[in-house]
Amino acid sequence: MLEIQNIHKSFGETTVLSGVDLQIGKGDVVVVLGPSGSGKTTLLRCINFLEKADKGEAIFGDIQVDLHQASKKQIQAIRKRTAFVFQNYNLFNNKTVLENVTEGLIIGRKIPKEKAIEIAKNALNKVELEDKYTAYPAELSGGQQQRVGIARAVALSPDIILFDEPTSALDPELVGEVLEVMKTIAKEGTTMLVVTHEMSFAKDVANKVVFMDGGVVVEEGPPKEFFENPKEERTRKFLRRVL
Ligand code: ATP
Repeated sequence: MLEIQNIHKSFGETTVLSGVDLQIGKGDVVVVLGPSGSGKTTLLRCINFLEKADKGEAIFGDIQVDLHQASKKQIQAIRKRTAFVFQNYNLFNNKTVLENVTEGLIIGRKIPKEKAIEIAKNALNKVELEDKYTAYPAELSGGQQQRVGIARAVALSPDIILFDEPTSALDPELVGEVLEVMKTIAKEGTTMLVVTHEMSFAKDVANKVVFMDGGVVVEEGPPKEFFENPKEERTRKFLRRVL
């Protein structure tokens, strides 16, 4: 469904990605783990053109693009197939919860308002925010704001949702409710690429774990194998630190 080949990215003198490959099948939940600064967020941002890769290819179903020199049309086509959940939610603070979810449907997808409202309400009900349609982001907890961010992504019915450390800005007691929602949508067959430091989510929900360090994929595999029988010394060292 999505194949990434040989992504390279530097910021000035700092090389962040040095040839990353990734394969994600339909319905897969792929979790990217790795130490701070290993390039996980940058990888996600390059896939969605929030950053321009120096080199690399992406194959999204029938679309093949050069990540360094994609045309505007290709970028639009890929953005239509993906949705992004941000670490800091990225909600419009002057819009209600419902408007935050309908905005992309009406403006981006040109869906008529009535239909957009129906889709948005369904997505918000899924993340258990049916009583918050008219609230503003500032009236919500961080966990609720992130659930709006997830509902906004789900409402777009993308081929894949990219999650960039969706729980790392949250107080510890709010992490669980967001992971629970992510688990629910994963179980429904949503294809997900998730950068996270939440090992329990990787263990329980992922069907593939990708471990990055120093801008490359060091090791990847099913979670059971990855956590119980890591092959690379760098992976073992990382796991000793985080588990
Ligand atoms: P973390 O788990 O801490 O979020 P990460 O693995 O997601 O880390 P990235 O956020 O991708 O890592 O960052 C990798 C490196 O790239 C870091 O050294 C970071 O400082 C650098 N970097 C990221 N974005 C930029 C930017 N826009 N300009 C300059 N340097 C950047």
